[in-house]
Amino acid sequence: MRDLKEELKSFFRQQGELFFDEFYLEKSETPQPAVMEQLNAEPSNMNLSFEELQDRITTCEKCALSQTRTKAVPGYGNRQADLMFIGEAPGQQEDLQGLPFVGRAGQLLDKILAAIALKREQVFIANILKCRPPNNRTPHADEIAQCEPYLVRLIELIQPKLIICLGLTAAKTLLRVEYSLGQMRGEIYSYHGVDLIVTYHPAALLRNPNLKRDTWEDFKKIQKLYLEKARS
Ligand code: URA
Repeated sequence: MRDLKEELKSFFRQQGELFFDEFYLEKSETPQPAVMEQLNAEPSNMNLSFEELQDRITTCEKCALSQTRTKAVPGYGNRQADLMFIGEAPGQQEDLQGLPFVGRAGQLLDKILAAIALKREQVFIANILKCRPPNNRTPHADEIAQCEPYLVRLIELIQPKLIICLGLTAAKTLLRVEYSLGQMRGEIYSYHGVDLIVTYHPAALLRNPNLKRDTWEDFKKIQKLYLEKARS
């Protein structure tokens, strides 16, 4: 009984930290979003195992970012994960450690995951680019084009049941669309037959905490879909 009380207290404390001391109650029924078939990237045509792919990424010299990176960041997590998160590109901490989402945005991502009862070890996290762009600038189209086959192969190997795009770069790259993030969230897209949801990048939430409320709505939907898929 005491454990349950402590767990509840910690859950509400965490909700408070994440969502400005407000606890959002479930709406009665989430409307079923449209399922949209998109034009996605071609299959990778890379016959690499997970380990070979990691090696290929960490030694890659296909673009100029290889000259300025400290470490490439191939992606990290549970190789059996049903849920896969895709961010934009490594930042300073990620570049130093070779791991995705380990800086401030990553700490917020961990809190959001905890709010839907998930740990980093249960999911897989990767980025569109595997090397840090100087000063964290937005990735260039040619860098994305060189790097995308690695991500496509990674998705083929992990075979997630649900993909979450964190931010516009991930969404635009995977879905080949030019909408705003506000237009894209709330829908369930299909990436080669895998359901895909777009939500705000945690770094955007750090810059603009007003986005947290919509993000929480997105993550409740993500949790519901994930639980349905993990059961099936
Ligand atoms: N932002 C990203 O998009 N990815 C990371 O790994 C870290 C910050």
